[in-house]
Amino acid sequence: MIELKHINKTYRMGDNEVHALRDVSLAIDQGEFVAIIGSSGSGKSTLMHTLGLLDRPDSGQYFLNGSEVHHLSDEQWAVLRNRHIGFVFQQFHLLPRMSALDNVALPLIYGGNAERKSLAHDRLVDVGLADREQHNPNELSGGQQQRVAVARSLINDPLIILADEPTGNLDSKSKADIMGLFKALNSKGKTVVIVTHEPEIAAQAKRVITMRDGSIISDKLQDEGKAIPGKSAADVLPSEVAVEVEVREGMRFLDYARQAILAMLSHKMRAFLSILGILIGVAAVIAMIALGRGAQQSIEQQLSSLGSNLLMVRPGSSQAGGVSLGAGASTRFTFQDVTAIAKLTASVGNVAPSVTGHAQMVYGSKNWSTQIEGTGPSYEKIRAAAPIAGRFFTDEEVTARSKVALLGTSVVTQLFGDEDPVGKTVKINLVNFTVIGVLPPRGASPFRDQDDIVLVPVTTAMYRLLGKQYIDSIYVEAKGPDMVDTAQQDVGDILAKEHHMSAKEAEDSFQIRNMSDMKQTMESSTQTMGMLLGAIAAISLLVGGIGIMNIMLVSVTERTREIGLRKALGANNRDIMTQFLIESVLMSLIGGIAGIIVGVGASFIITIAAGWAVKISLASVLVATVFSVIVGLVFGLWPAHQASRLNPIEALRYE
Ligand code: ADP
Ligand code: MG
Repeated sequence: MIELKHINKTYRMGDNEVHALRDVSLAIDQGEFVAIIGSSGSGKSTLMHTLGLLDRPDSGQYFLNGSEVHHLSDEQWAVLRNRHIGFVFQQFHLLPRMSALDNVALPLIYGGNAERKSLAHDRLVDVGLADREQHNPNELSGGQQQRVAVARSLINDPLIILADEPTGNLDSKSKADIMGLFKALNSKGKTVVIVTHEPEIAAQAKRVITMRDGSIISDKLQDEGKAIPGKSAADVLPSEVAVEVEVREGMRFLDYARQAILAMLSHKMRAFLSILGILIGVAAVIAMIALGRGAQQSIEQQLSSLGSNLLMVRPGSSQAGGVSLGAGASTRFTFQDVTAIAKLTASVGNVAPSVTGHAQMVYGSKNWSTQIEGTGPSYEKIRAAAPIAGRFFTDEEVTARSKVALLGTSVVTQLFGDEDPVGKTVKINLVNFTVIGVLPPRGASPFRDQDDIVLVPVTTAMYRLLGKQYIDSIYVEAKGPDMVDTAQQDVGDILAKEHHMSAKEAEDSFQIRNMSDMKQTMESSTQTMGMLLGAIAAISLLVGGIGIMNIMLVSVTERTREIGLRKALGANNRDIMTQFLIESVLMSLIGGIAGIIVGVGASFIITIAAGWAVKISLASVLVATVFSVIVGLVFGLWPAHQASRLNPIEALRYE
């Protein structure tokens, strides 16, 4: 059934060469019970690994049921191991977090049999452990654990059972039990090969092969003449060995997911911390994107409320995005300029001056620091600022420098709460003012609250509150959307004329900007801000990913023996890789989903607590989910690859 011809295997340790197997030829027939005996280091285990298709010899041939298999790929070997070979190891190698039943069923994950549970149950009955099938290995004695391992080796009805020192870790009673089990299996026709260094164990086999220094020195039948009982070879042997790699998906994924959850549950704190890393990253990305988009949206709203006909006239150069370069060259605007612009009736409609500054307000026991703007009555039309309560100030009040004020809604909330402010007296920079109206709300943005403002007549602001001699800027409304360019040109010409400047000088000393200019500047600045926030958040996601990679590498190291075992039972590299990838993706996906919840929650809290507009987009949630899966994949790939590359024998030996 199995035939080895001229097998050689040499290990090189530096300059030292160890000939573990020297020209070993061996044939094992159906129904045999073979013991391989020899002192430690004589090459028994190496021979066993060769027989079990776990290790490639340096030279020689291997025939399984007459087919040459030594040239087949690792993947095909994995299939052969899974289908035709049952392993029993000295250290039992049961997976600790699984019940006896699941341990027995493990090879079926890679063999694709649907009735896993009932088959595993039957095998446990065969080894006399039916009543222990829900116990985990740590709840079983050594002898019982080894019986579970024997049941596992039987699950795929293999051609041969290979046992390496199966009794090495057992007391004498359990030794007898296990040997009894092997004898019983053999008497039912199963081929059994056991490796041992104990002569009394070997004595129980039918054929004893003795090894020394990598060579077979004797090969004897114990009691000649006795025919091997059981089925005839023709009944049992498949005519040829199937080596195709079947598609065996489905169930395995479920098992991998279960394994991943078990692995996480057995290291709860560790898993929690790596999940937390992803959670923070994803939550930050979502909240930051929401914040950026909210800012952009509220700016768009503010700008659209201004009307597209508006022009802003400011001192300073229009270059460098509104940053005034040569301060000395800047124009200082006066009421004369306002009047001159207002006379351009062909292209210009309403005109309003503007001065701004800070003001400290007091009402009763309440204090509030806010932005103050002084302007004229046309502001109401230009900025669509019809009061929601009370009235706007008049030209007479501007001329008289009256102490009247309109409050933005945020100021009202801060100073008056639910009280009606109209008609009340407030102190602005220690001067008493009468509140005559409340401005319509414009909305808050992360960078500026548009409703935190007080409006007073421009003259009052200049001479009574801020001590300014000149106007800061001028609002100019073009007659219509098609007149914006003409108005811009006309205003530029008149201001140059008023200030006796050439066109070139004028270009440097003041700027006239229309809505699309302003929109562009503001959008690009919020975009930059948003991208910056997003980038910082993305970095935290990256750090979270590295955390997952770290934990997965630890997990691979810890589970080296498990990986070796799975490979011995028929898992190929792809199976191992998939298992670990599923684990890391699952972790980052959990982190991602929790991160979405936290991120959305945080966005709402920002809105409520800070009053900033945030906009959670479905796209950012989707991107965050996809991103966390990708993080899991990318950062899990290296550890999973490391796991899949492990050599099964070395992995099984790993301490
Ligand atoms: P046994 O099972 O009979 O005790 P082994 O088959 O395990 O012996 O080992 C045979 C020889 O090969 C020993 O001398 C051992 O040191 C050597 N050997 C086995 N595995 C390796 C390895 N992975 N690297 C180097 N030497 C090895
Ligand atoms: Mg050994």
